[in-house]
Amino acid sequence: FNNLYLNNPRDLSMSNEQILIVEDELAIREMVVMTLEMAGFESLQAADIAEAHQQVVDHRPALILLDWMLPGDKSGIDFCRMLKSDEMLSEIPVIMLTAKSTEDSLINGLDAGADDYMTKPFSTRELVSRIKAVLRRSRALSNDKPIKICQLSLDPKSQRVTAQGNLIDMGPTEYRLLAFFMSHPERAYTRTQLLDQVWGGNVYIEERTIDVHIRRLRKLLRPYDCDKLIQTVRGTGYRLSNRLE
Ligand code: CA
Repeated sequence: FNNLYLNNPRDLSMSNEQILIVEDELAIREMVVMTLEMAGFESLQAADIAEAHQQVVDHRPALILLDWMLPGDKSGIDFCRMLKSDEMLSEIPVIMLTAKSTEDSLINGLDAGADDYMTKPFSTRELVSRIKAVLRRSRALSNDKPIKICQLSLDPKSQRVTAQGNLIDMGPTEYRLLAFFMSHPERAYTRTQLLDQVWGGNVYIEERTIDVHIRRLRKLLRPYDCDKLIQTVRGTGYRLSNRLE
């Protein structure tokens, strides 16, 4: 046990990142969960694709460890392909876990969009270092540079929004909503999609609540003439335009 601790020192800087392990074999799942927790990660578990899908929608994990062979008619590869073709979920990195070690299975896994690949049995130490490497890569890709659209500027690091050099004081929900829109301009989103993305799928609030926050956001932006950037898309929901018409 001592040895296990030495191999997996706690890394507090990694805390609060949820990693989803999708694996039908309880023994492997428990071993991975213990490893993740000792490395300072929070873990989520799923034993099949249906559970995995629910966890992804509810918690939007930072990374998914995905077993290839799962019960039911869909494999881990199918699930990976589904995630990577979904605009809202494709940024979540996936590490495939498999008992197969042939080159074919490696190519299939990478074709399906997996970010990395591990063959069972694997060492827990190796697993942690692969997870950290994939997370580092995905963080480097996710843009935390200030975003500028028209007069508006949003700095993800300081979480400040300015317009024409003036700081706009806004609540956390309006900030998250605006940050989501500004990083995905010119795309229409339904209220359900906005709920999933901005509030997280596990909250039970009325879709109309979004309209209230949109109204507040527009009011905050109106003095700078930027309220018109947030457009109502009839029959769908809302969109942020990257120019004023
Ligand atoms: Ca399995």
